[in-house]
Amino acid sequence: MKDCIFCKIREGKISKIFIYQDEDVMVFPDINPVKPVHLLIIPRKHIKDFLDLDNANLENKLKNVIKKMIKENNLENKGYRIGLNGGGAQAINHLHIHLMGPMGKKAAL
Ligand code: 5GP
Ligand code: ZN
Repeated sequence: MKDCIFCKIREGKISKIFIYQDEDVMVFPDINPVKPVHLLIIPRKHIKDFLDLDNANLENKLKNVIKKMIKENNLENKGYRIGLNGGGAQAINHLHIHLMGPMGKKAAL
């Protein structure tokens, strides 16, 4: 999609070192990390919002890539957070999942 920063990254118009990529999914570090590990896990296809994600194969693939990134970054026992902004809370309208860690336990309310 024109003017989409993640589509431009996918197309190589903005240079980026990918942590992982395959035919459906790409992963690179957030430009403004809030934790030592802060990755963006992104479907290559321009899907604008979580509610538009309707492909079970892609959902499964995203889940498996998240698991792989958790393991490769040794976050299994150090705490992690998986985050997704949508419905207008997102800054970039191309679906992306944040993986952040290490992360302490969130205080109970
Ligand atoms: P959102 O609020 O849409 O969930 O998060 C967008 C994220 O994309 C932010 O955490 C922001 O730091 C990150 N971001 C914005 N522009 C770029 C960029 O050009 N490259 C990378 N790697 N991350 C970006
Ligand atoms: Zn896009």
